This record gives sequence, C-alpha cells and structure tokens, in this order.
Amino acid sequence: MLEKLFQGVKEFQQEDFEKHRKLFESLYNNQDPHTLFIGCCDSRVVPSMITKTAPGELFIIRNIANIVPPYKETEEFVSTIAAIEYALHKINIKNIVICGHSNCGGCEALYLEEEKTKDIPNVKKWLELAGEVKKRVSKIVPANDIRARDWMTEQLNVVLQIEHLLTYPGVKKRVKEGSLNILGWHYIIQTGEIYNYSFEKRKFELLRENDIK
Ligand SMILES: [Zn+2]
Repeated sequence: MLEKLFQGVKEFQQEDFEKHRKLFESLYNNQDPHTLFIGCCDSRVVPSMITKTAPGELFIIRNIANIVPPYKETEEFVSTIAAIEYALHKINIKNIVICGHSNCGGCEALYLEEEKTKDIPNVKKWLELAGEVKKRVSKIVPANDIRARDWMTEQLNVVLQIEHLLTYPGVKKRVKEGSLNILGWHYIIQTGEIYNYSFEKRKFELLRENDIK
C-alpha cells in the first residue's frame, strides 16, 4: 500500500498540480477560505469532493463524530476549539458546515457496552461530548430499532453540535446580523445525498436539485 501513496504523489504532481498550477501559485502566501467544514474522520467523507470545492476554499476540521466541544478556555479538547477559534477570529469565515454522515462509527460507539471501550478510553472520553444525543434519541426512537436509532443519532448529533457552536464568542451575534451562516448536514455515503437541517422546521430535509440555486 505504501507504493500506492508514492505513486499517488507522483501522479498528483505530474497531472493535477500541472492542471491547476495557476491556482496553487496564487495561493502561495495567503488563504481566504469562505467555509469552515467540520466533519468526521471517516475515510468515506471527502469534504472537497462532496462540495466540489478547490484548495483554498474550505478550512477543515475533522474529528471522531464531527463534534464541537462547547466553548471554554480549557486544557482539554484544545485542538478542535483552537481551530474553530482561529477560523472565527483570524480567517473571518462566512459559513460553517457541520457534516455528519450515514453509518458513522463514532455515533455508533456511543452505544458500545463498557467492556468494548476498554482499548479506546480517549474515544470514549471524547464521545462524552455527544452524550446528550443518546438521551434525546431514546425519547423518540424505540430501543430495538437500531437502524432508526443510528440515523436519528447521526442527525441529532449534528443539531447538538450546532448548539455547541452557538456557545462560541461572537457566533450568535454574527448569525443574527447575517454575516455567518451555519449549516447542518447529514451526508449519505451510498447515495451521495445530503440532508440539510432546516432551523425553521427543526428537521433535516433532502437537498434536491431544485432547491439549489
Ligand atoms: Zn463518522
């Protein structure tokens, strides 16, 4: 598999880079991305591919289960908080997308029995940030319907992380004055579909071609 990586670098430099040389050269000393994309580490979620964006357009944070820790000055979870802080105050981002996805192992791990989390104590600790989702889901989905449970967990997790995002200094104010958009997405791996969260209707709606202008 190592060979595949080196071959990939070679092909990138000879083909893709050459094709977009002007773009890369124009980006050499500056970035001005319009969107902060917060997604899961999952290898099947490729932010630039699903949004058809080029280098320089997305500022990307990836972590297990696309979690946003609530804002605080802290020594815990510094990586994600710092990246959001930087995007808000040093890049002046215009949009923030929190993108969950289907078949999310992180969301599923919320339900793992104690025994099965022994070798992943840090994942377990990290997922406590989404613990509230379990409670919300259990109120609306029967415990034995695993499919519905997972789907709802992935969606309500995005909603919870939007709530966390609103705890960051300045976010509420910027959203209110219209200089910052927050989007919640549920990306479906096997169909390419994206469900977009409607703040008005408080539910996810499939993005259809006609809705996209
Ligand atoms: Zn995931």
